[in-house]
Amino acid sequence: MRYLVTGGAGFIGGHLIERLLEQGDTVLALDDLSTGRYENVAELESDPRFELRVASVIDHRVVEACVQECGAVFHLASAVGVRLVVEEPVKTIETIVNGTDVVLRACARYRRPILITSTSEVYGKGIKVPFSEGDDCVLGPTTTRRWAYACAKAVDEFLALAFWHQSRLPVVVARLFNTVGPRQTGHYGMVIPRFVEQALAGEPITVYGDGTQTRCFGHVADVVSALVQLIVHPRARGDVFNIGNDQEVTILELAERVRAATGSTAPIRLVPYREAYTEGFEDMKRRVPDLTKIRRLIGYEPTRDLDKILVDVIAHAIRERELRSAPRG
Ligand code: UDP
Repeated sequence: MRYLVTGGAGFIGGHLIERLLEQGDTVLALDDLSTGRYENVAELESDPRFELRVASVIDHRVVEACVQECGAVFHLASAVGVRLVVEEPVKTIETIVNGTDVVLRACARYRRPILITSTSEVYGKGIKVPFSEGDDCVLGPTTTRRWAYACAKAVDEFLALAFWHQSRLPVVVARLFNTVGPRQTGHYGMVIPRFVEQALAGEPITVYGDGTQTRCFGHVADVVSALVQLIVHPRARGDVFNIGNDQEVTILELAERVRAATGSTAPIRLVPYREAYTEGFEDMKRRVPDLTKIRRLIGYEPTRDLDKILVDVIAHAIRERELRSAPRG
């Protein structure tokens, strides 16, 4: 099968493409290299089964041509990270909503199965833990920029499911919980690469708020295993699935574990939210996936825990630091 992967040069996109090539598929990646990085796919460019096209996912002519050339579509292109959402709200909403609209319309025209990646952010401030796919999305006011991201991704989900209901276009929605692994950049605020970089540099590890908020971190290798199975599963169509890991950790404990795993003596510094983001920022207190549905459908079980995640992320970060400090020439 030839797959189109939008956002193919992103952190998850790069890992997904490697998996598709490993299992014998061919891949066309579409990415405008805005938050995606060429380095994520650089090593794949020598493989004749891989092609990168640099264009925006809202360019409907390019998207139509790409969709027509492929048998199925992974739609990963999106705005990335809470920081970007707060700093560039217009671009965030446009990329998410218009991009998904363009890709879905092309898939509908050529009848191509599509998996769209959504986010655990859509559960918003829900306090029932764990989050199940049928739970309410509890979003905050439109005056708080953070919620634009969750709301735009929820619109994507509605639109995808609407295509399924109206014309039986095969769509699957994957709600990704905090996904991490090698090559993720801390540039857009993601906590694990940031903590690892800070610890390795001996700089203060910046825990926002009081650090009692929790997250569950899924290894990108487990996440892409689920994605490649979901897109071909007939009973996944027209449905929504949580993907991630259900081991919960506080952000303060995470900072301590990063410090121990790197052997760093960097101090842990508590940073008030108003300093870290903008005034009025709301953080989610807990975010835990209920994985019952995906376990039942494909027997999904995360195989890499937080220790393994940290080992992989730290090893990658050390390699990067060595490359950066190596003399050129
Ligand atoms: N966080 C932190 N320090 C950082 C970056 C993030 O304490 O340098 C916190 C953030 O406030 C949130 C958690 O770590 O509670 C996860 O943040 P991230 O941006 O990785 O993902 P989110 O779950 O917010 O989408």
